[in-house]
Amino acid sequence: MRLIFLGPPGAGKGTQSQHICADFGIRQLSSGDLLRANMRDQTPLGLEVTKFMNNGELVPDSLIIDLIKDELSKPQYKKGFLLDGFPRTIPQAAALDSMLIKMNQKLDCVLVLEVPHELIISRLSLRRTDRKTGKSFHLIFNPPPADGDFDLYQREDDKEETIRNRLEIYESLTKPLIKYYSSMGLVHKINGVGMLEDVYDRISTVLDRMTKSNIY
Ligand code: AMP
Repeated sequence: MRLIFLGPPGAGKGTQSQHICADFGIRQLSSGDLLRANMRDQTPLGLEVTKFMNNGELVPDSLIIDLIKDELSKPQYKKGFLLDGFPRTIPQAAALDSMLIKMNQKLDCVLVLEVPHELIISRLSLRRTDRKTGKSFHLIFNPPPADGDFDLYQREDDKEETIRNRLEIYESLTKPLIKYYSSMGLVHKINGVGMLEDVYDRISTVLDRMTKSNIY
């Protein structure tokens, strides 16, 4: 199964992705996690993208496309993948189309997680991320287990002003992808408001139906 997960930053894609991948036996590929790992390790790419990421801006298409091309060619994605955070622009989606043609693979589904912007702002400003694992928590709705050994921090791009900028970028550059993939008949919209488990039920209903009818 090959999925794309679309939705505004902070809609809960990362958390839901982990459940989907565990249940459906596919690999998550998060472009944001890959970039943050490069920043943490201070690779040349990491140094190049730091300014964009801290300001909540998109990194240039050419950089992210090369990064994803390298990553997707690894054997662990052969059985299927869930793309979280990529593509985010029409040129990225077109580049992904060409990559998949070369790999003789096709997309099965594009999930779009829908959450109102005001709710996202209140969620993200209370999000904290573990420095070691990259796992994220919400201080009220999804707090870290009390017995865990976490080194939590607030991502620079989770500050309110930056969040508003990221949401504007989502509206102008990423939302057009919904139309792009709708024209291919791939889009399933999911209401992302509510408890994590309820949202996951909505997602797994769609994916179970796909699995049962063997359309992937
Ligand atoms: P995320 O963790 O998906 O919210 O991504 C965090 C940041 O990484 C974004 O605000 C961008 O700066 C950068 N980023 C992640 N994925 C992409 C992408 N597909 N295209 C451009 N920039 C990206």
